Amino acid sequence: MSRPVNQQAVRRAWELQREGKTHEEIGEEIGRQPRQVGNYLDLQWLRDRNLEHLSYSRTAIFNMEREAKSRCERQDHSFMEDNRFEWHAYTTRTDRTAIGTRRITLEVKVCLFCPHEKVGRRSFASVS
Ligand SMILES: [Zn+2]
Repeated sequence: MSRPVNQQAVRRAWELQREGKTHEEIGEEIGRQPRQVGNYLDLQWLRDRNLEHLSYSRTAIFNMEREAKSRCERQDHSFMEDNRFEWHAYTTRTDRTAIGTRRITLEVKVCLFCPHEKVGRRSFASVS
């Protein structure tokens, strides 16, 4: 079992890298080994953990949020199909319900700018 990733530390590591700091300097500042800093700054490592959004700069996030908001205002919620916008423009909620002996799990995407919701993946299981 690996420890949960400290998201704040990952964000900070990317900010410091953009300021031109080395892995050693970043490690000192955020209290991690340079090897761990290397992981934090490795896009594939982040993707494997579904944490790629932690690498985005404030400007990139601002632009993404602005883009998503203007698409929302035009009733275009296609950005909710794009993982990059998760956390920034929509969140995903899991709803569980049961019909008879079947347990249903729904993945519901929720727009952060309006009440729009979209049901994504559903899965069914029998209650034993
Ligand atoms: Zn919306």
